[in-house]
Amino acid sequence: MTTDKNVFSTCPLCEQGVLTEQQASESTVYKGVERLLPLYFACCSECGTEQADAKHLRANKRVLQAFKKEVDGLLTGAQLRELRESLELTQAQAAQVFGGGPVAFSKYESDDVAQSEGMDKLLRVAQAVPAAFAWLKQHAGFATEQITLSSQSMTLALAAVRAKGRVQQQLYAGFQLQDSVREQVVIGTAHFAGSAQKQWVH
Ligand SMILES: [Zn+2]
Repeated sequence: MTTDKNVFSTCPLCEQGVLTEQQASESTVYKGVERLLPLYFACCSECGTEQADAKHLRANKRVLQAFKKEVDGLLTGAQLRELRESLELTQAQAAQVFGGGPVAFSKYESDDVAQSEGMDKLLRVAQAVPAAFAWLKQHAGFATEQITLSSQSMTLALAAVRAKGRVQQQLYAGFQLQDSVREQVVIGTAHFAGSAQKQWVH
């Protein structure tokens, strides 16, 4: 985190020396778990004072928060971001689906704030159980138009399936549950005039 700007900052205490960025390791214990965590600060070349400004405090707080999350069995900020991205949601969309307010995911992912245990579990369920995630999206009100078919396109798509004569009951069951199947229907419908049957049964 050393930058030229920081290296040449004048010490606000003695107003003589320059501040240089420092990083030390500090033993930290949380719930009986000990870990060496990085500690960020600056040191004056003249008076030797060690100082932490707002930027250092924020960085140190994030390191500590990430460690606590790990010990508490919660997703760390990096893991949570990965999970959200695997669900193909922006931070704003994630807040819409899971709650927490507009800046919640930004704070979770930067380790400014720890998500609640309930939020943590909800996110894991959404990833592990596609039907649960689909339900949440639907109830958030923004995914519905993406996956719901008009009755006309549904009719066309089903007609395409029937025409092939290989309609299977589980296909209809999948229809109710799986977004991927629905997407296939949409694709099939879009190409219906051409080769919907090929799209459908292969
Ligand atoms: Zn100084």
